[in-house]
Amino acid sequence: MEEKKKKPWRRSLQVRFALTYIAVIAAVLLLLNIYPVMVAQDFIFKSKQDSLQSQTAVMASALAGLETLSKAGVERVMEQLDSAGLTRVLVTDTNAMVLYDSAESGGAVYRYALLQETRQALSGNTVFYSVYQNGQFESRAASPIVYRNGVIGTVILYEEDAEQAALLQRVQNNLTSLSLVVTAVVIVVSVLLSKAMTSRVSALLKAIGIVREGNYSHRIQLRGRDELAQMADEFNQLTGRLQTTEEVRRRFVSDASHELKTPLASIRLLTDSILQSESIDMDTAREFVGDIGEEADRLIRISERLLTLTRLDAQLEPVRTPTRLEDVVGRVEHMLRPLANAGQIELTCQLERDCTVEANPDDLYQIVFNLIENAIKYNYPGGQVLVRLWRREGEIFLQVEDTGVGIPEEDLDRVFDRFYRVDKARSRAAGGTGLGLSIVRSMARQYGGAVSARRNQPKGSVFLVRLPAWEGAESAGEEKGGGQP
Ligand code: ADP
Repeated sequence: MEEKKKKPWRRSLQVRFALTYIAVIAAVLLLLNIYPVMVAQDFIFKSKQDSLQSQTAVMASALAGLETLSKAGVERVMEQLDSAGLTRVLVTDTNAMVLYDSAESGGAVYRYALLQETRQALSGNTVFYSVYQNGQFESRAASPIVYRNGVIGTVILYEEDAEQAALLQRVQNNLTSLSLVVTAVVIVVSVLLSKAMTSRVSALLKAIGIVREGNYSHRIQLRGRDELAQMADEFNQLTGRLQTTEEVRRRFVSDASHELKTPLASIRLLTDSILQSESIDMDTAREFVGDIGEEADRLIRISERLLTLTRLDAQLEPVRTPTRLEDVVGRVEHMLRPLANAGQIELTCQLERDCTVEANPDDLYQIVFNLIENAIKYNYPGGQVLVRLWRREGEIFLQVEDTGVGIPEEDLDRVFDRFYRVDKARSRAAGGTGLGLSIVRSMARQYGGAVSARRNQPKGSVFLVRLPAWEGAESAGEEKGGGQP
């Protein structure tokens, strides 16, 4: 278990989940921080542009009334104009020489205001600039003073607005602190969430590891109804099936080796007896060798049946041909009649015609043979065996009924298990292998049918095989159907 490789932390599902959540939320927060501030800034710029430009326009048109600009004339006009809210107002002549400066004590009067905005205004353009810096909006607007289509000077307005800037700063600060709180919460939540999620995946992985090591009884419990819980459920079912298969395989291997060992041990014992006795007479030797032959026959029978079962387990598709089951039963009857006679058992067959099944004739022969042979083997002298065959609603039924030793109620299902025998000694004495009925069941299932056993009244057993009828034979025997004969 400890050979498990350590994953680099970056590849861990938990880290990936957490990082994804955090990245998504960080992107959203970034957008939330930038976008509203940008929009507000834009809005403030626009409103400033409108107000400053309209103010310059008013001043320029008032000053245009002077026709020619002089320091005294400009001052007179400017005194009458409202410049509330403005930081500074400059008026220049066409040479960019300052004629009026609202700054205290005359400021730059008679100096040249060689500024970009002055140049642009002198070329006849209205200008507006605004920047957000040093915690305030700094705006400038300039406009030409036009008299009779000629530029006679410029008006330049300056405004520094800390109030709106502070408002914007507050919004930004609030957004930042809110984002910090949200980020902290998101980090905690995403770590917890991803941990909760991945801990269940880890539990599943751990369980897979345990089962891989061969502990098929391990089951996993995951709460919830999500896909992971469903996966755990599927995993448990899969493991359950694996466990059953493994148990069946183990039992089969141990049973098979035990069954093969028994005749081999007898052979060993018999050969030892022959070898160890100094003067063995011919008759005894013959008897021992005969016993060895019987044990060898049993080994052959077991091996053949094991091979048949292996073939059935492999679920190879058999070669199917439409076969009349009544013919097969006829052949088996012919074959087993001497055995029945030897046991003084009355063997009767009541067979409908056209009971055709699409199957391998050898497989059908084995089914019928095993059932009738058992009915004779597990019977008393003077007993009866009745074989019936009929067709009903697209199915063929074969029933083998005997008045023999019978099977206890609790063993009725188990007789189809491999190597299961009700009476081991009797089965052995009769040359049984404990595999006949399991072959019958596997074969019946292979052809889409089934087999069942029940107790006969007043004594004995009844075996019933059901197989799908061959469809090509539908018309042939249908009128004779309609129930058990
Ligand atoms: P076996 O080779 O031992 O006959 P089977 O698989 O054919 O193996 O049968 C399994 C066991 O079922 C038998 O050992 C026997 O105990 C019981 N059994 C089968 N058929 C009959 C029957 N007709 N009457 C009573 N017992 C039966």
